[in-house]
Amino acid sequence: MICADHAEVGGPDLLARTVADLLRTTITVHGRPVQMTASVGLATPVPTGDVRAADLLRFAEAAMHDAKRRQARGGIGIATDGVVSSATKALELEAELRAAIAGDGLVLDYQPVVGPDGTVLSAEALVRWPHPERGLIPPADFLPIAQRSGLLRDLDLWVLRAATREAAAWPEHRGRRCAVAVNLAGLLPGDAAFQSVVSDAISEAGLEWDRLVLELVETSLVALPPPALAAMAELTERGVRFAVDDFGTGYSSLARLKQLPAQTVKVDRAFVTGVADDPADFAVARAVVDMARAMGRTTVAEGVETADQFHVLRGIGVDAYQGWLFSRPVRSAGVREVLARGRLETPASAALSGPR
Ligand code: C2E
Ligand code: CA
Ligand code: CA
Repeated sequence: MICADHAEVGGPDLLARTVADLLRTTITVHGRPVQMTASVGLATPVPTGDVRAADLLRFAEAAMHDAKRRQARGGIGIATDGVVSSATKALELEAELRAAIAGDGLVLDYQPVVGPDGTVLSAEALVRWPHPERGLIPPADFLPIAQRSGLLRDLDLWVLRAATREAAAWPEHRGRRCAVAVNLAGLLPGDAAFQSVVSDAISEAGLEWDRLVLELVETSLVALPPPALAAMAELTERGVRFAVDDFGTGYSSLARLKQLPAQTVKVDRAFVTGVADDPADFAVARAVVDMARAMGRTTVAEGVETADQFHVLRGIGVDAYQGWLFSRPVRSAGVREVLARGRLETPASAALSGPR
């Protein structure tokens, strides 16, 4: 609510209280009474200050979240200095992130994905934000900011361009160069410019078409309209591959795997973790791998940390592996060194080559 003449109703506090009281009610849902309350966040511009309407709305929202956090069901949060300053910090961080994306202020780590014998098949680009005061910020901490402020598409674009450019210059091993995988969360196939943006990045980087893998979560791949599917098909035709990320989480269903326009399925770490000792995780992993194989998809196991997990996964026929057992994500220079060697040690390759 925007209220300019709140003095007439007794001031902002009373107005907020009245609104909260009006919304406090009992409604019947499926024959049961449900108590409904509202949390209200309140912000008023300082008389002399120069506050934009958008900022005022954010302060009110921050105050509402503050009210929610402090129990206050049906509570009222007022944008005090503390709330305003934390909302202002969030705004600053958002502005800094925007500048970092525009000014090449982000960096990429790469994590190798290996075959059963340790051959490096691809490397996944993972973005980090080296912040001058806060240190290296992991994606889990700044992706939500990017999402809230509509920066996800720009971020994806930056990563796509940077990763294709770096990968184009990767060393070859026995005449072949490994592929680079890029996560997409804001630049999606439904985007009218999807095909041209991806094509341009590949051409400008001078990367071979079959050396790019695009990772999308399942929800970005279901129920795509025909033009989006056509854009993906066009890219696939030229050699680009698509992977379903985090498969097994969210609303994944095995039946739906058949409809997903992707060549690769990445089995989420949630199932990999327990695969060696939890029968339920083992069953899920095996079902996903069997199903994927029957549908002509390849599989990658994510978050492989132990030799036991690796052996079990290899036993059920997983095609490729990614995780700390083989390598943590490494900076550009480190990945070049791994790629020049062409392979990483696996428990299997160690056993095969025997003691020296
Ligand atoms: P993801 O796509 O599932 O990436 C794998 C994450 O698992 C990475 O975390 C990686 O460091 C971590 N990981 C790899 N191996 C292991 C392991 O053996 N054990 C454990 N515990 N973790 C492992 P990171 O780099 O923090 O990325 C987190 C998520 O942020 C990614 O999950 C992805 O969803 C998103 N993300 C990262 N980079 C980008 C990007 O460039 N663009 C977009 N849109 N999203 C990104
Ligand atoms: Ca991924
Ligand atoms: Ca994943």
